[in-house]
Formats: sequence, C-alpha cells, structure tokens
Amino acid sequence: MDIKNLTIKEAHEMLISKKMSVLELAEAVLKIAEDTKDLNAYLEIFDDVRAQAEVAQKMIDEGRATMMTGIPVAMKDNILIKGRIVSASSKMLENYRATYDAGVTKKLREAGAIFVGRTNMDEFAMGGSTETSAFGVTKNPHDITRVPGGSSGGSAAALAANACLGALGTDTGGSIRQPASFCGVVGLKPTYGSVSRSGLMAMASSLDQAGPFAKTVEDTEIIFDCIKGHDPMDSTSYPDELVNQKEFKKPKVIGVPVDFVRAKGVDPRVLKNFEESLEAMKKAGYEVKEISLPTLAHGLSVYYILMPAEVSSNLARLDGVRYGYHADGANLLEDYMKSRGEGFGREVRRRILLGTYVLSSGYYDAYYGRARAVQEMLKRDLAEAFKEVDIIATPTAPTPAFKIGEKSSDPLSMYLADIFTVPVNIAGVPAISIPCGFVEEDGSKLPLGMQFIAPHFAESSLFAAGKDFEETQK
Ligand code: GLN
Repeated sequence: MDIKNLTIKEAHEMLISKKMSVLELAEAVLKIAEDTKDLNAYLEIFDDVRAQAEVAQKMIDEGRATMMTGIPVAMKDNILIKGRIVSASSKMLENYRATYDAGVTKKLREAGAIFVGRTNMDEFAMGGSTETSAFGVTKNPHDITRVPGGSSGGSAAALAANACLGALGTDTGGSIRQPASFCGVVGLKPTYGSVSRSGLMAMASSLDQAGPFAKTVEDTEIIFDCIKGHDPMDSTSYPDELVNQKEFKKPKVIGVPVDFVRAKGVDPRVLKNFEESLEAMKKAGYEVKEISLPTLAHGLSVYYILMPAEVSSNLARLDGVRYGYHADGANLLEDYMKSRGEGFGREVRRRILLGTYVLSSGYYDAYYGRARAVQEMLKRDLAEAFKEVDIIATPTAPTPAFKIGEKSSDPLSMYLADIFTVPVNIAGVPAISIPCGFVEEDGSKLPLGMQFIAPHFAESSLFAAGKDFEETQK
C-alpha cells in the first residue's frame, strides 16, 4: 500500500468502503515507522497498535465510525495517554507513567483514532529544534543533517516521513507551526482555550495550546474538529458556543505587516517566496493590504519574559521528592539542588533561572509587569488590525530548517527563529502554517511555510484561506 500521499480524508473513505482494513493501514504505518527509526521521530512505538486497530475496525463494522476512526496518529511526548510513559523528553520524567488521559487524548480515543507512539520534542517543549531533548535530536526527513524544528519536531518529522497520517503537538511560541514549516506539513495553533489543556505537561500555561499536524488543510480541520471544545477538566477552555461560532465570513483581505516581515535577519529567499505566495493569493481573488503593527516587533521580548516566568512556577513541582528523577544529597536542600540540577537540561535550567529572576521582588515591575502591559498593547493593536483585514500573513519562520548543531550553542539566535510565531501566542489568536514551496541548499529541497493569523475563534477563516492557498501551490 502506498500511503505516501494518503490523506486522512482518503483513508477514511477507503476504510468506510472496506477497500482497506484498519489493520492494513496500521501495519503500513508501523512498517514505515520501523524503517525510519533512524530519524528518531518516535521515542516509543506503542505495542498495542494492532489491538487499537481491532477496536477501531469494530466501530467501523458497527456503523459507529467518525472521520478519525482507524486513523494512525502520533502524539507528542508531553500529552498524557493513560498507562503510557510520558517524559516531555526529559531525564526528569524518563520513567513517568500517565495516570489519566489528556482531554485531547480522550477525544481522539473516543473518535477511534489509533495512537502509533509518542514523539520526540525539545525538553519540556523549550526549544525550536528538538536538540534540547534528553533522548537525542530528531532528524529532518527532507535532509537528515538538519533539524526538524521544534519543539514538536518529532511529530512533524513522523508525519513528513509518513509514519502516521496526522499528529498532535503543542505550541507555546511556535512549536507546532515552525516544525510544520521546516518539515513541509500543515500545522495549526488553535485559539487559546478552544482545545483542552487538561493532561498536557505545562510549559507556560497562559500560552500553551495543543493542535494538529496534517498533510493538508482539510485533514488539519478534521483533527481540529475532533479535539476542540469545552472540557470541564480545563477551566480555561471556552464554552462550545464560542469555539463553534460560525459567523466568520470567508476571508477576502489579507493584511501584511511589511516592516515586521522585512525585519533584519530574515533569509532573502524566504522573503522572495513570501512575495510570490502573496501574488498567488492575489490571483486567487484576495486583496493584499499593507498594515503597520509596530507592537509585533516586541512580541519576542514579551515572550521571553512571560514564558520563563510561567516555566519557573510550573516546573517547581518537579523537586525530586514527589515524583520524577531523584538524586540523594546530604540534606533536603541538597536533594532539591541535585535532583533538579541533574534531572533538567541546560535550556530548562536557563529558563527557570530567568523566570525566577523576572518574578523576584524588585524586578517584578520592571520586567514581568511591563511585559504584561506590552502584551495588552499587542492584543489591542491586533484587534484594531482585524477591523481592516480578515487575516494576517507572515512567513512562518525566518529561515528554512537549519543544520543540526548550528544554533544549539547560541540561545539568542535560536530564539530569533520564533519571531513570527510568538506574537500569536501572546495574543491568544489562532494561526496556521501551510507549505509554500522549497529552497534548494546543498542538494536538498528544504520546505518553507506561510503563516496565516486570524482573530479569536476564526479557525474557519484560516481553513478557508488555507485551502485556497493550497490550490495556488498545485
Ligand atoms: N521555540 C519556542 C521556545 O523555545 C517555542 C516553544 C513552544 O512553542 N513550545 O520557547
């Protein structure tokens, strides 16, 4: 069976019409997952995939199938699946087993999806390359000397390698969209609060959001429809009336924050591709309008204050006493220091220190307080912009996938990879990354991504424009 170009939609039709069994599909995916093990996309391939396939087949045979029944999906290693190890790719939680299903896991399970395995990621989702994983880097299937992006690099790479038909990741500052861009797949960061965060390992709770990877915009929408909606276990999740509101008209006007997009450090090939992509959208009937959004440029600074602040508080629970990695010291304080010093990697420790600093008395107002104020300005300016335009376009990332090791010793240059994605999380709005062509480098074709941003709850606008954009790319 050739599943290289098989979409979720097509697989669904084949399963329903019995042209293929769930087991056949699962076996084909498992074979690819085995054959591409060297990518290190999966940290673990689950041993019960065939049993899950049986359950899904039964649903189909009994006429209870949903769009996701029998569809093999990959799960990022920070999403809880009851009874399974979930480590956030950290030594700290290397042997930790989930005691319950995450909200998104529950929804996928009820819909009959098949969990193929858990995928590699940057430790506790902190990073943009999967290089901070305690379990080795993931390789980009388009060029194995390059990173797949991150932090959800394993999910993006597994999908790009056809070792699943869809995948889940989490996105705090770009961790779904940037790896989607680097791996040539679609990735969606939903509106904050439209998908349950129950059972996700928290990085920065006010910014974290789970979302789908898929080969097409249509497939992305299928997964989103399955996982979205209110969850009583997550008090920040919105009521279904808000999540499902339908009044958004089909987008027509695309806003482009030109100054921001032309910022220093953006690869000229990315800019050229971006201009071409906009031209294509004009031909498809869209109006492209230049807008000025100066606060976007402060998104990164705001993010690298708010995010570490929340990280420092969220990760305080991992003290080596209650659960997770433990190292013995001479007394309790030393226990803490050794357990946390040895259990967490460099990047995680850096962020805990930064966050503790910006929250400390005497610095709180200067850093955290001001970052919150700029966050409000950014939200306000975006809301103003959305009065004039239906969606906003930027490249997803300033460069194509970089080489393994190229940025890992220079955190600041790594942070710059998030410049276009973080403002979206700061504002809580949804955004999608869609493949928009390739650049050639050292004989490899490296994918690029186009980002569309919409107002709160207007995922439907992203899907509508995204499908039109896909047509222009054919
Ligand atoms: N790359 C960003 C960071 O390092 C985003 C991470 C994320 O979205 N989880 O923080």
